[in-house]
Amino acid sequence: MTTPLPAPICPPRRILMGPGPSEISPRVLAALGAQTVGHLDPYFLQVMDETQAMLRQVFRTENQMTLAVSGTGSAGMETCVVNLIEPGDKMVVCVNGVFGGRMVDVAERAGAVVTKVERPFGEIIPAAAIQEAVDKVKPKVVGIVHAETSTGAWQPLEEISKIVHAAGALLLVDCVTSLGGLPVEIDAWGIDAAYSGTQKCLSCPPGLGPVTFSARAVEAIDKRKTKVQSWYLDMAMVRNYWSSQSRVYHHTAPINMNFGLHEALRIVLEEGLEKRFARHQENHVALKAGLAAMGIDYAVAEPHQLPTLNAVKIPAGCDDKAVRGLLLNEFGIEIGGGLGSMAGKVWRIGLMGDASSRRNVLLFLGALERCLATQGIKVSPGAGVAAAIAAYGK
Ligand SMILES: *Cc1c(COP(=O)(O)O)cnc(C)c1O
Repeated sequence: MTTPLPAPICPPRRILMGPGPSEISPRVLAALGAQTVGHLDPYFLQVMDETQAMLRQVFRTENQMTLAVSGTGSAGMETCVVNLIEPGDKMVVCVNGVFGGRMVDVAERAGAVVTKVERPFGEIIPAAAIQEAVDKVKPKVVGIVHAETSTGAWQPLEEISKIVHAAGALLLVDCVTSLGGLPVEIDAWGIDAAYSGTQKCLSCPPGLGPVTFSARAVEAIDKRKTKVQSWYLDMAMVRNYWSSQSRVYHHTAPINMNFGLHEALRIVLEEGLEKRFARHQENHVALKAGLAAMGIDYAVAEPHQLPTLNAVKIPAGCDDKAVRGLLLNEFGIEIGGGLGSMAGKVWRIGLMGDASSRRNVLLFLGALERCLATQGIKVSPGAGVAAAIAAYGK
């Protein structure tokens, strides 16, 4: 008996306004579909060099060790942690959402002795709490999430960086939902190690994890007494493949994913970082005005609301899953539900990369009005769209 051949891949058209992946430019999709070359082909080596140079611009750093790890954002997280941590090293990890929690798990598996600085979901980590923790623990590394995608909280970093460095520790930052959407200043803020993912504000499909390590972080890696726990993510070997001086085969790079990232970075730099951040901010402000006019509040207090991930309270009496289902089935719009302690209580509306557009904001507000009507929730007709249009000005 033969099983019938499955239908060819033909995904439905979606508008990706969830916590990632975000919308992808046709230019990036075309680059992904380019002819595959060898992982040591001179053409590919040039693409790697150019990608590193563009990543340095987007990370705003001169760091030599800046490259794209073969794996998603979590692989970026794991790369930073396992290369900086040796068994028994002390690490402080800030936990105010799911991704801080994931960093604890990764660090403990790498043998770190972890001290958590915890705050409820939706809040930021105050600098004073970090001061207290580093004074007590004297850690080698402090890890923190810049943009907590699970809660919508935007963590300030500059003051924390000063505290961490004064304590002689290294600062590790999760920039997955900020890189390419919000200012990330690796050098100016003194961040020692950072990782991101391709499918959030860089608007590339998931698959690569951009990372960067400062000279201090590289020194810590060079001084290790033990081998990095992960063979695949060992920067001592990975960097020899990415370095134009050596080019030693380590693993076969996902060639076409790197083509896609190359084009996505070209698009980011073509728009310009400042303009891109301003666009993310403008669409966030308009969405917020529209939601306010419909009686919907944010789950995070001002001024810590992320423009790239809008976590809003689900109106009382409204069925979370029914509304998200209707948005998807009637309008093709994907948004996210709440995670952890926020499950069933919030919606997470992503405005990342290409998805941060006037078209999406106005379409979403109109679609949401229709969905709320099916739930018997009354909003004054057109109020959300009108308020957003007013926010955009003339
Ligand atoms: C998405 C995300 C990750 C994990 O990235 P994956 O690509 O899902 O592996 C880590 N941290 C934050 C803040 C994220 O938003």
